[in-house]
Amino acid sequence: MVKTLEQIRAQLGDCRRCELCETRTTIVFGVGNPHAQVMLIGEAPGRQEDLGAEPFIGAAGKLLNSMLDLAGLSRPDVYIANILKCRPPHNADPLPHQIEACTPFLREQVRSISPLILVALGRFASQFILKTDTGISHLRGKIQIAGRFSVLPIFHPAAAIYDKTKLKLLENDFRLLGRLVTQRRQELAKRAQHQAGQTQEVPATQRGASQQQLEQDAPRQQPNQTEPGQPATDQAKQ
Ligand code: SF4
Repeated sequence: MVKTLEQIRAQLGDCRRCELCETRTTIVFGVGNPHAQVMLIGEAPGRQEDLGAEPFIGAAGKLLNSMLDLAGLSRPDVYIANILKCRPPHNADPLPHQIEACTPFLREQVRSISPLILVALGRFASQFILKTDTGISHLRGKIQIAGRFSVLPIFHPAAAIYDKTKLKLLENDFRLLGRLVTQRRQELAKRAQHQAGQTQEVPATQRGASQQQLEQDAPRQQPNQTEPGQPATDQAKQ
């Protein structure tokens, strides 16, 4: 059964499923549009996020906001979450057992939001979602299909703060995201039109749902056939 984000948050509770509960200030569950077509997934909360209980509110968050603008998106359009919901001390790499404990909730969030596009921010999220050991330098900027999702691996914004050579690539990848969003929306619109046309050929008395209902349902796809991948062990910095 697909749960609401509120139900998933309630299920997470005051989570103590791994040792990061001992050092966190707050659980950073995720934030954004519960019906977003674009979901961004990072690695783990940093210091600012741990204090503010929201992903990407530090310097990397500011850069992310400006990058979203390049894609024709804003934060209210998207949903943002991390592989881990608690900050590892000293921003250490997530450990396999932490990922194993935490990611069932991320999978539930993906299932609930049912986005069209997953944006993997950095190596860690990319390797997790795509179930690969390939480095982010090779993955970035290449749209891949994982189940019913379009997946776009992108450098983590923090990496572009510390390495200016990555900034241009980051900008290019977010522009690519904008084009991908447009393409996926056009596909949805065509599908909705097609479904509406098919329904009009069926006598009204035989319809299982009204035309209005079909048009409302068309932009949403069926529940996941494939979910974000199994744990990977490498890093991408928040
Ligand atoms: S990182 Fe995830 S599994 Fe570990 S305590 Fe935090 S919420 Fe629970």
